[in-house]
Amino acid sequence: MWAMIATWRMALEGITAGGEMLEHGAAAGEALEKAICDIEDFPYYKSVGYGGLPNEEMEVELDAAYMDGNTFDIGAVAAIKDFANPIKVAKRLSAESVNCMLVSEGAEKFAHKEGFERKNMLSDRAKIHYRKRVKETAQELRPYIGHDTVGVVALDQHGKMVVGTSTSGLFMKKKGRVGDSPISGSGFYADSTVGGASATGLGEDLMKGCISYEIVRLMKEGHHPQAACEIAVNNLDAELKKRRGKAGDLSVVAMNNKGEYGVATNIEGFSFAVCREGETPAVYLVKNVDGKCIHELASEEWLNNYMQTRMAPLSE
Ligand code: ASP
Repeated sequence: MWAMIATWRMALEGITAGGEMLEHGAAAGEALEKAICDIEDFPYYKSVGYGGLPNEEMEVELDAAYMDGNTFDIGAVAAIKDFANPIKVAKRLSAESVNCMLVSEGAEKFAHKEGFERKNMLSDRAKIHYRKRVKETAQELRPYIGHDTVGVVALDQHGKMVVGTSTSGLFMKKKGRVGDSPISGSGFYADSTVGGASATGLGEDLMKGCISYEIVRLMKEGHHPQAACEIAVNNLDAELKKRRGKAGDLSVVAMNNKGEYGVATNIEGFSFAVCREGETPAVYLVKNVDGKCIHELASEEWLNNYMQTRMAPLSE
């Protein structure tokens, strides 16, 4: 059995390509790298890789991470600029036993030494979004709340599980701001003897519950991935509201080592993509109805509209 699940509609083409590799016996790590690189390279996604939205200084600082669920090797980069595929750098770092999480200049030096492709990641479309935002918030630049990190969990035919994330983080974030995505246990976690999970949403809140680790822990206790995701999201949402009066966006995907999956969210409009051996890759939309997260297949109309909106011409 092989399988892959990922946050958001944008992952569909990537996991389809990764799924074909898994079908032909590829290792989970190779398939996941391919899936995430495809998303990083696609210029119309505003939240991952090239075309990602900049920080308040108009720089695209990217975060990414990779975890091997067999060995617990972890590699991560945060606030890295001007490299085409942060996930590749994170995966490469996972082979190190120390210095495996590097930030900004340190991450860039490492990536340069290792020969990773350099690229100016600030696209013309992202510049337009930035300038529009500056006009809208003429008085004060504030981080824009909205989210779209890609998080992928993959299971290969040998039973190995890996997880990876890649993001430009929050639009208009402060220079140097790091969210949950490169932080182990928060943005991602994988244990091949159990399963893997990944999160997207307001990093500052996701980190308060170490939500990906919590989901894997719940699966280890025997919960189905769907129950594990719902318990983790609903509990963190409730705790945040109780203690702080509000909760940011929290959305998660998880898969166990049998290829069974689960998803949960506390927002409207969370989508995810999944492909599994013998099934056609598909996109689903998730709704939280009184604590139960229900997902349904995205309609053709929704899918077409999604791409049209992403690719529509932008005017200043
Ligand atoms: N979780 C990411 C962060 O806070 C944002 C996202 O999911 O888009 O950096």
